[in-house]
Amino acid sequence: MIALVLLGPPGSGKGTQAAKLAKELRFIHISTGDMLREAIRQGTPIGLKAKNYVDRGELVPDKLVIELIREKIANTDGVLLFDGYPRNLAQAKMLDDIVIVKAAINLHVDENKILERLTKRRTCKRCGAVYNLETNPPAIPGKCDKCGGELYQRSDDTESVVRQRLSVYKEATLPLIEYYRNKGVLIEINGDGTIEEVFERIREKLGDVI
Ligand code: AMP
Repeated sequence: MIALVLLGPPGSGKGTQAAKLAKELRFIHISTGDMLREAIRQGTPIGLKAKNYVDRGELVPDKLVIELIREKIANTDGVLLFDGYPRNLAQAKMLDDIVIVKAAINLHVDENKILERLTKRRTCKRCGAVYNLETNPPAIPGKCDKCGGELYQRSDDTESVVRQRLSVYKEATLPLIEYYRNKGVLIEINGDGTIEEVFERIREKLGDVI
């Protein structure tokens, strides 16, 4: 199976771009964050084990995340687009055992902007769509444009947890940029700009790969 990976710190726009890429280019969107939040909401065995880590902004143990991914891709066919996975080297190596990573797209965004983006982010309880109170607000306050679901602030989008997530990113996830650069599949993208602008940058570069 062929896969693409979206790298970048929390708040870099990975989820938004992944959803748009999946829709327009028909990739299969795999967001481990969304899957974990859903498992937590449903109170599944994996969700119960994962909750404390997510609430604290820590990485959930690899074993649990890998289990979710295996379940998800068991019956799928098509190009997989990973969003929020891998988060460390062990996860990247595990991914190489099951798929061929054709491109790793790294979204660059200034750290001050990230904090602002995340604390103004609102997420749909029902479908997971993401809004920003300033740059991408819903048409009706508090309601999802796509499904009418209720918008809420993720418990890990508060300033203290965001800082923790950023430090986990620097320590565990940043080395992946070198990992994919050495493999010759890294694509660097400026993540600053409107959703459309960033999307076009990605699409243009992906055109050479897939
Ligand atoms: P995200 O929605 O990608 O920002 O992820 C939210 C939270 O879910 C993270 O802060 C982690 O606690 C957990 N998480 C998501 N993806 C992973 C992963 N690949 N490995 C470990 N933990 C993850």
